[in-house]
Amino acid sequence: QANERESLYLVSEFAKDFFHNSLRKTEEGKAIGLSYFKERGFTDETIKTFELGFSPDRWDAFTGHAIKQGYKLEFLEKTGLTIVKEEKQFDRFKGRVMFPILSLSGRTLGFGGRILTSDKRAAKYLNSPESDIYHKSKVLYGIYHAKQSIAKEDNCYLVEGYTDVIQFHQTGIKNVVSSSGTALTADQIRLINRLTKNITLLFDGDAAGLRASLRGVDLILEQGMNVKICTFPEGEDPDSFAKANSLEDLSVYLEENARDFVNFKASLLASEAKSDPVKKADTIRDMVVSISKIPDVIKREVYIQECSRIMDISEEVLFNTLAQLLQKDK
Ligand code: ATP
Ligand code: MN
Ligand code: MN
Ligand code: MN
Repeated sequence: QANERESLYLVSEFAKDFFHNSLRKTEEGKAIGLSYFKERGFTDETIKTFELGFSPDRWDAFTGHAIKQGYKLEFLEKTGLTIVKEEKQFDRFKGRVMFPILSLSGRTLGFGGRILTSDKRAAKYLNSPESDIYHKSKVLYGIYHAKQSIAKEDNCYLVEGYTDVIQFHQTGIKNVVSSSGTALTADQIRLINRLTKNITLLFDGDAAGLRASLRGVDLILEQGMNVKICTFPEGEDPDSFAKANSLEDLSVYLEENARDFVNFKASLLASEAKSDPVKKADTIRDMVVSISKIPDVIKREVYIQECSRIMDISEEVLFNTLAQLLQKDK
């Protein structure tokens, strides 16, 4: 079993190098893949740091080459790099630009591949399937390149996508990782918890981004960590915003717009239904549910006070609600 995993690592490493090389050294890769990344504003240094790649637009360009180099079809199939159908072999990522996904220690676990055409029938991003080395609920894109900075800054920015991570990094903010399209999991948070107790959620300025950030909050609080939330103007995501702004402006924006979860939820209410008593009650209840996830009693108390002040409701009512919730959890 350990041997087999080692074989999957080797195949993935080989694939990463193949894709990176085909991006930078082949005519097709330069014309299609490299120019795409350049258009997105990525520099050569960034492309090298993240070992971005290109998977040639031929049905078995990668698989054929790997087999010729002696890699076994069995392992190519198990990493999902090759799809075997009716005894024929196909490259899963044919014609896509490639984002290798590395472990905390820098081993290649899997890939995300982005389509280059605007063909709406094909998925924009395709990821490696689950394998013995790639468990999507346990990895965070960018963690290898972010870990030092996360520890040093004692904070971790969490974004939605690959390009958000890369653009932030290039702009000069390196303590950033992404759950890459999957809903944030407890295992992913645990990975960050080893490096810092502070997470700032940065989500896209759209409805999906908002839902995603709210889901993550309670999971983070449950692990005794602190969470802030910062959203971007409608239609923007961290990538587009960082691309259009200097490091200075980006830092100021993050500083000024990151709010704790109580204030964030209050501002959501204010923006949609300030005077609706039912919605206000729902929001308060929702805040107390989040507060009930915090293991530390003192922090719970501080947030109850905050909630009381902002929502203009007595602490006593909030403490009673909290007590009921804690009772139910037992
Ligand atoms: P881009 O800027 O390249 O268009 P993005 O990163 O802004 O992409 P979003 O649509 O905001 O993309 O989605 C966030 C993340 O969700 C992506 O980076 C990717 O990891 C994942 N994702 C998006 N679309 C898909 C899809 N069709 N299938 C699988 N994963 C996806
Ligand atoms: Mn989005
Ligand atoms: Mn996005
Ligand atoms: Mn984007």
